Amino acid sequence: MSDARHKVLVITSGGDAPGMNAAVRAAVRMGVHLGLDMWGAHRGYHGVIDADIEPLTNRSVSNIIQRGGTVLHTARCPAFREKEGRDRAAAVLTENGFTGLIAIGGDGTFSGLIALDHHWDGLTVGVPGTVDNDLSGTDFTIGFDTAVNTALEAIDRIRDTAASHDRIFLVEVMGRHAGFIALAAGIAGGAEHILIPETPTDIEAIGRAITAGRTRGKTSQIVIVAEGDEAGGAFDVGEKLQDLIGSDYRVCVLGHVQRGGTPSAADRILATTLGAFAAETILDGVSGQMVGLVSGDRRRTPLTQAVGTRKTVDPYLVRLIGILSQ
Ligand code: ADP
Repeated sequence: MSDARHKVLVITSGGDAPGMNAAVRAAVRMGVHLGLDMWGAHRGYHGVIDADIEPLTNRSVSNIIQRGGTVLHTARCPAFREKEGRDRAAAVLTENGFTGLIAIGGDGTFSGLIALDHHWDGLTVGVPGTVDNDLSGTDFTIGFDTAVNTALEAIDRIRDTAASHDRIFLVEVMGRHAGFIALAAGIAGGAEHILIPETPTDIEAIGRAITAGRTRGKTSQIVIVAEGDEAGGAFDVGEKLQDLIGSDYRVCVLGHVQRGGTPSAADRILATTLGAFAAETILDGVSGQMVGLVSGDRRRTPLTQAVGTRKTVDPYLVRLIGILSQ
């Protein structure tokens, strides 16, 4: 048994997001600074259940701040959804003397932490690492800014082609349940229409607006479609629009290119802040919380609230779409 004040296990879990490594680095180095004994498990909850763990020192997290993906690897872990899996994980944590668990991931990962609380009496802290930005208790999640910028770069390129060929493009971006990436990338890219799960999609109205735009002399029109929009993905929306617009269109599905890549400066700074704050939260003896940044302030929000409260898109930005695309 170490004489550190806490023995802390760090995992990355669920979908990977750029900046997860920066969060691991900051958690480990702040933890070491505070006298905590820092460890990492591989492949999310799998690594906890299988005791696939390693000690993490300041040197083990060298040269990773700029790397996308996660050096600890990540995975979905169906076994952790079962009581037996969580019992096993709790036994591994207890047998190895862990008193804290920092999980970097999205709402699924946090649901796992909440469920683990019934099996294990250690301290749990969540760090919001997901490109989707769909967690309450933080203005932005780690990875969102990079994903938006990746999508935006693609949209800018598509705009060149669309304008040159007088064409309509439907661009599908990530967002199964939330339209944050679509809204941010669409606004930044000057999209004519942005279809998100949070707002009702009126295909006929969009068809009329596209035709009207062409009449007004618009040479290109870009429709951003969040993959989880109720009208379907970009291919479905294209089929539904076909007869209404009476012209050719192209579809581009951005897919997984949005998940990887070098984290932006904003994501590295957010990840560094929240990773360090997670280690401090363990030292403070606080459990069951997600760390976040709200209006520039570090905040702790109960995991149940972070997962259970629906984060809303900015209605002002939604209102601007139609006005600014004229
Ligand atoms: P994300 O964290 O990115 O939302 P997932 O939804 O895939 O990703 O969740 C990551 C992992 O968290 C799952 O593979 C599973 O091991 C665990 N998990 C998700 N939901 C629950 C739950 N309700 N109870 C226990 N574990 C869960």
